[in-house]
Amino acid sequence: MRPRQADQIITPGTLPENSAGARWKMPFAARPKYIQLETVTKCNAKCPFCPQNEIVRDPARMPTETWQKVVDDTRGWGITYRPFLTNEPFVDNRMPEIVRYIKDNDPTARVEFNTNGELVTEKLGLALLEAGVDIMRFSIDGFSKETYEPSRIGIDYDKVIERTVRFLEIWDEGGYRDKVFTELRMIEVPENTHEITAYKEFWGPKCSEVLITHMYQWPWTGQKREDVVLKPCLKILDEVFFYTNGNATICCWDVHERAVIGNVNEMSVSEIWEGYAARCMRATLDDGRRDLLNLCSRCNAYQDYDFSKFATNGGTE
Ligand code: SF4
Repeated sequence: MRPRQADQIITPGTLPENSAGARWKMPFAARPKYIQLETVTKCNAKCPFCPQNEIVRDPARMPTETWQKVVDDTRGWGITYRPFLTNEPFVDNRMPEIVRYIKDNDPTARVEFNTNGELVTEKLGLALLEAGVDIMRFSIDGFSKETYEPSRIGIDYDKVIERTVRFLEIWDEGGYRDKVFTELRMIEVPENTHEITAYKEFWGPKCSEVLITHMYQWPWTGQKREDVVLKPCLKILDEVFFYTNGNATICCWDVHERAVIGNVNEMSVSEIWEGYAARCMRATLDDGRRDLLNLCSRCNAYQDYDFSKFATNGGTE
């Protein structure tokens, strides 16, 4: 039986009375497939929907030894590295060097960026392509300046468009179409829905793919204790995330270090992934007990997702 103390903090009637042990078995990877590195904490934008501007942790810039340690620990694992977290990657001027370090001597490694595009100068774009970047995703949430600028405070729309178009020209003319995937993505909100067709027509021929996505809600952004979703999680199956200080967390939405599972300056990435803290958090989420994890206790991700295929009781949740 689950300890009575734990059951007391759950909403009555949400769990079967005789339940014990994990109710789902999620397919966790034996080692991570995706690694995100917060090489700097800053962003050049102050978007109203993003908690990035709440980050106060130090150091502002990840020491070189720290990001190199993560890469060295995982060489040959077939990792997709994303050298950013809640920040804009190109606030860090070391990115071409970081891409080269990752790609050198590891044909299994891939590097992806998500960027708002404002800092991607022609010189930087060329350096990234030459260093071996695999995916460039440009997040441009609107087709007109009037729609775009209220959602991306602090970003110059004209500069974003000019630099993104130029990057895509260099990519196309330089023969990178088959080697590097480029994506333009827009979060659909009521303010920009009428621009989707024009957005696709403009960007579609210029890049590999256009993606229209939906807004998500970060944990701890207004959800109450009673809103917690007592389900497992898909987000933590094969990813790990490192802050500038070397701490690792289970979730890319963990802006405030609520689910730290180790520090890469003291442990190897394997030790972190297989460690006690990580295993406890996975087991707790496999039992649908987000309420017992500080980070997850205010998260409603996957609330409509049908997890029954992962259920341990023969297919029902
Ligand atoms: S339940 Fe929410 S906060 Fe917790 S790991 Fe999953 S997505 Fe992240």
